Amino acid sequence: MNLIIFGPPGAGKGTQSNNIINNFDLKQVSTGDLLRSEIKTQTDLGKKIESIINSGNLASDDVVNTLIRKIISDPKNFNRLIFDGYPRTISQVYSLEKSLKEFNQKVSIVFNLYVDKDIVSKRVNGRVICTRCFGIFNVYLNPPNSKNHKCEKKYLEKRTDDNSKTILNRYETYVEKTKPILDYYNKKGLLLEIDGNQKIDEIYAKIQGILQDIRD
Ligand code: AMP
Repeated sequence: MNLIIFGPPGAGKGTQSNNIINNFDLKQVSTGDLLRSEIKTQTDLGKKIESIINSGNLASDDVVNTLIRKIISDPKNFNRLIFDGYPRTISQVYSLEKSLKEFNQKVSIVFNLYVDKDIVSKRVNGRVICTRCFGIFNVYLNPPNSKNHKCEKKYLEKRTDDNSKTILNRYETYVEKTKPILDYYNKKGLLLEIDGNQKIDEIYAKIQGILQDIRD
């Protein structure tokens, strides 16, 4: 099955995708991670998109659609993708449909992690990411420690777009361009609403229950 994890910045899409891949034979595709890796290695694409991402605006549909089509076309990924942070515009929705159809697949479920605006800013401002194991932590809500994180502290980094100034723009961009696509998936009967304001484990318990029912 292919899943979409949907929600505003800070909803916990990456955290829950990590939980899912630890328990199910699925592969996470985060367009944010793919774009950040282009920036880190300073590819031509990375240089072009760096300022767009740091200001909290969206990269162009063509750029992300091309990255995603390549991943869908890989037979190793057949019917086992979790889309995290994609699609983000209606044009990306259509491109995703087209690519999945081309490679004989479809979306099975869209989990919408809905979260209050004040929680979003706390989660985003406190977020730190391990560049080695890709674990996601929060200095206020889920601090890295010797139990939940095995890598050295030096690998922990804050994302350059995780600050109070950019988060407002990212949230507004979500409301204006991304949230409306929920309607599309709702009409298709694929949407499952999950309360993303809860604790990480509580959210995951709901997701896990639903995925297990489908698998069994
Ligand atoms: P994320 O890691 O999902 O929070 O994404 C970080 C940033 O990468 C976003 O604020 C956008 O600038 C860019 N980005 C990620 N996914 C997409 C997408 N599907 N379409 C356009 N831009 C994206």
